[in-house]
Amino acid sequence: MSEPIVEQHHIPESPGLYAKHQKVYPQEIGGYYRNLKWKVTAAIMAFYFLAPWIRWDRGEGQPDQAILVSMTLRRLYFFDIEIWPQEIYYLTGILVLAAVGLFLATSMAGRVWCGFTCWQTVWTDLFVWVETRLEGDRNKRMKFDKAPWTLDKLGRKTLKQIIWIVFSILTGAGWIFFFNDAPTAAMDMLTGQGTWGLYGFTLLFAGTTYLLAGFAREQVCIYMCPWPRFQGAMFDEHSLIVTYEAWRGEPRGKAKNKEAGNLGDCVDCNLCVNVCPTGVDIREGDQFQCIGCALCVDACNSIMTKLGRPGELITYDSVSNQMARERGDVPKKRLIRKRTVAYTLLLCAVLALMAYGLVNRSELEINVQRDRSPLFVQLSDGQIRNGYTFKLLNMVAEPQTFTLMVDELNGAKMTVIGVAPDPVDQVTLDVGPDTVATYRIFVRAPKESLSSQFKDMEFVLTNSATGQIIEYDSRFAGPDR
Ligand code: SF4
Ligand code: SF4
Repeated sequence: MSEPIVEQHHIPESPGLYAKHQKVYPQEIGGYYRNLKWKVTAAIMAFYFLAPWIRWDRGEGQPDQAILVSMTLRRLYFFDIEIWPQEIYYLTGILVLAAVGLFLATSMAGRVWCGFTCWQTVWTDLFVWVETRLEGDRNKRMKFDKAPWTLDKLGRKTLKQIIWIVFSILTGAGWIFFFNDAPTAAMDMLTGQGTWGLYGFTLLFAGTTYLLAGFAREQVCIYMCPWPRFQGAMFDEHSLIVTYEAWRGEPRGKAKNKEAGNLGDCVDCNLCVNVCPTGVDIREGDQFQCIGCALCVDACNSIMTKLGRPGELITYDSVSNQMARERGDVPKKRLIRKRTVAYTLLLCAVLALMAYGLVNRSELEINVQRDRSPLFVQLSDGQIRNGYTFKLLNMVAEPQTFTLMVDELNGAKMTVIGVAPDPVDQVTLDVGPDTVATYRIFVRAPKESLSSQFKDMEFVLTNSATGQIIEYDSRFAGPDR
């Protein structure tokens, strides 16, 4: 009897779903984009740490912090602008503005947000700067990490951690100051009088800063941030992006071999890879891991200058310009295109809407809720009575007085609990500064004033000081007909 044939299939070994993190040691480089990045960093730091300390006089009893998101007062203050929770649409407008602004910037200048202004990039840059000062530049840091522990290594590593932690705590506190009166919160925290909320949130933000900028670094951009996944939709061939001019650089080869063969301008020195904060080799083409910081442009330019070759082998330019240069044509910038015009128009429209809303903003908000249960009450004299909860939100820092009347309901009279116990044609209502006043109002009217079960009517408020009239549409319910 013959042996059964057993088929053997080779099952390839799984590459695994987890790859060990390869630490990136970016090398320091000077140049145009590096200087530009430091300037942007300085501006962001100045705003972040100084803005909560700017004072702004809003009158007595009002917070005097120019930019403040007050949780206790439930309000957002931005110099003279005050946004209440009821005006959440302004916040929506700000978010839409930020999103469209980002789309516009990306379609014009690629990942300029990621490379220059994103706080992950900025804070990581500063953390790496500290690391470089204490442990040396790329090669030294790599050797330093592999070297056995000595007193010197322990001292430097400890000092680095202390500086990182202090800076993280300052960052956490800086964030908290936007939500509290900065001088009071700082003093409370320094004297141990701060609330658990103050300490807790400062530590929370300090901890995330320390982890994200000190350790996670480029992994935030590569694995955590969703933006690189869809930013490609905003690019076209005219968007400025960091790219390698392969037509000029290839075939690459060492400088000394240049004359030996038909080599391109890239001398394969790897400096562009070494300076990259995300460890990208831009010569492999555009990659989502590239944050567009342009440090590789500085790196390559420095090599080209040393070799006496034309710069911009790695360039911050559009694909169409690269192709034009390859063909020998004159490149030209095309910032005005269909998509940039569309984003700009959208940006202007949202800005105009918000500006219109702010200019015509009412400083009084009315909210009226008619009782649903019971819908109406029939009084002993046959009249119909409806109950309303009347809320007046006074958004100014002074008390206001209003006269309230009912219109478009024949024979209507009101009683207001605590204000007008007997039926009257009009009633005076007071609202304190910066508060919501709630009144229970009962409107009564003869049955004959209703031609159907529901009758549209109006509450008419007249500001006693300014004479301004505000009308609020409501309904009056009666028996089914
Ligand atoms: S490839 Fe160049 S532009 Fe992209 S992240 Fe690296 S250094 Fe920055
Ligand atoms: S820095 Fe320039 S020359 Fe050096 S490897 Fe990169 S592209 Fe080539």
